Amino acid sequence: MPAFSGVRLTVHCPFCGFADTRVVDSRLADDGEAVKRRRECPACGQRFTTYERAELGYPMVVKADGRREAFNAEKLQRGLTRALSKRPVATERVDAALRDIERQIRASGEREIAARTIGELVMRALAELDPVAYVRFASVYHRFEDVDAFSAEIARLKAKDDKADAGELPRES
Ligand SMILES: [Zn+2]
Repeated sequence: MPAFSGVRLTVHCPFCGFADTRVVDSRLADDGEAVKRRRECPACGQRFTTYERAELGYPMVVKADGRREAFNAEKLQRGLTRALSKRPVATERVDAALRDIERQIRASGEREIAARTIGELVMRALAELDPVAYVRFASVYHRFEDVDAFSAEIARLKAKDDKADAGELPRES
């Protein structure tokens, strides 16, 4: 995707089609991620607002086997949605978590990021959103990446559950 060059961006007037408009006011929006500009058309005098967003771009994703691939936001969303399927988590919270993960990936400023690091960001987000989804994702993720960590995690969660359910579960002889 092409990066916006904020200063030289020319915006046609949506009312009369005039080829350039004048910026009368600029301010940051969306937590500083976008610039909101109030524009005025010198031809017809109409005013309107635009939002300009910098495309920081994503680093290349380095897989466990060393292969590189372009970051895929849809894949990230699919993974998160799959882990959260049939779980009582509001869509807005999922979207917010996705945006947060994407922001963290971009904010690294590096040219490459390990797939593993992305997986860890997803797990951290899931741990906050829904513990069941967290285990679901961890079970898939760790199967390939780190079996020991997964086993330890399940053992830890199981111990927690057993503690919580003590007295309700039938005891094995
Ligand atoms: Zn106009």
